[in-house]
Amino acid sequence: MTALFAPAARLPEAWASNVRFEVDSRGVIGAVTANASTAGAEMLRGPVIPGMPDLHSHAFQRAMAGLAEVRSEDGDDFWSWREAMYRFLAFLTPDDAEAIATQLYIEMVKAGYTRVCEFHYLHNDPGGARYREPATMAQAHLLAAKTAGIGITMVPTLYTSGGCGGKPLKDGQKRFAITPVQLVDMIRQLDKETASEVNASVAIGLHSLRAAQPSEIGEVLKALPARAVHIHVSEQTKEVEECVAWCGRTPMAELDRDFGLDERWNLVHATHITPEEIEIVSKARATVALCPTTEGNLGDGFFPAEEYFARHGIFGIGTDSQISVDPREDLRLFEYGRRLKAQKRAISGDQCVPNVGAWLWLNAAAGSEKPCAAPVGKLQKGYRADFLVLNSGSPNLYQRVGDTLLDSFVFASAGNSDIRDVFIGGKRVIVDGRHPAEEQARARFAHTMERWKAAA
Ligand code: ZN
Repeated sequence: MTALFAPAARLPEAWASNVRFEVDSRGVIGAVTANASTAGAEMLRGPVIPGMPDLHSHAFQRAMAGLAEVRSEDGDDFWSWREAMYRFLAFLTPDDAEAIATQLYIEMVKAGYTRVCEFHYLHNDPGGARYREPATMAQAHLLAAKTAGIGITMVPTLYTSGGCGGKPLKDGQKRFAITPVQLVDMIRQLDKETASEVNASVAIGLHSLRAAQPSEIGEVLKALPARAVHIHVSEQTKEVEECVAWCGRTPMAELDRDFGLDERWNLVHATHITPEEIEIVSKARATVALCPTTEGNLGDGFFPAEEYFARHGIFGIGTDSQISVDPREDLRLFEYGRRLKAQKRAISGDQCVPNVGAWLWLNAAAGSEKPCAAPVGKLQKGYRADFLVLNSGSPNLYQRVGDTLLDSFVFASAGNSDIRDVFIGGKRVIVDGRHPAEEQARARFAHTMERWKAAA
């Protein structure tokens, strides 16, 4: 056991002072004691809050962030962005994927993300053939996470079709192709490869009901029961309409009818969820992974938060397209969307935690546990020691205490000096806002971008 001592820490129920964390060799908190002694403990240099899990990431998209912002007369939307993504993928090697993911994961940790769910469907080589080692691309992401020191939930993703009802894949989609049997094999192999890694786990990914048929999904779920399942669902009205035209039900209704939604499910976006579906999802204790900056960037729509939280729905946040890699920006945008819609202030929150920033941060973190398939998101015994040490001397946080400190942390956005150190599994990964591998990672990322520019 190692001991860490914080002057103040946000525990699940409330803030506590002079908090001592005992952390075991696997990075799990063995005991939390308030008003404790400092004897033999490493001193943490500021107030401590739980780190934020990122529930939905496609790492390679970091290299494309900001490239699809040109107005076109026919109205640019999600579908033209998707075409731009396919062109980029014609070039990407496993080495490039690792370089991009390493750069991204370091940025994530610096911004306060301590774990990433990598929703991974880039399985094949640029020509669409399987790699000799089929898990090559997944392994590149695991390596990147190790270099960055971030916890990772690898989510290898089923992708078999180019539209509802088993439409054939388009050329741009051939890198994604994987059968249910191949996916199950890959997940079992990655289970073995990560068995000794304390910071890695493996979940099931299903791209969407556009890209995987119910019978194929059933095959995967049967082979890997009781495991976290991630799926894109109800992101776009066109996607919902396509599904209704095909089977007479919305994607969410179809999933619930065929597989029974429960707490294993991480429903990514769920933007166009209906009132009846909100009832089903909240009762099932499934998680909704909101990706506000990506959804805003793509013009997807706005999640019906009032109705969902009235039913105590569980949520977390994801960076998805990496247009923003900052949990605070995603939470702010989400809250501001609610305010703009309702023409009111300070909407998120409840009787226990009336402070909006604190409520958003703590609930998004705690809601992430099931999708991450790891005990993360809270500072308590049995959970991973993933946390941020805030800088009380930062202009945004100066003289702030308790949940007001978290409000200022989430909403006051000037400068970037609020996070002092980041600990993942009890180990200090960020020191004074810096990552030891950041220069190397940036140089390698630059090299990949130069290669791409030359090839384009
Ligand atoms: Zn996505």
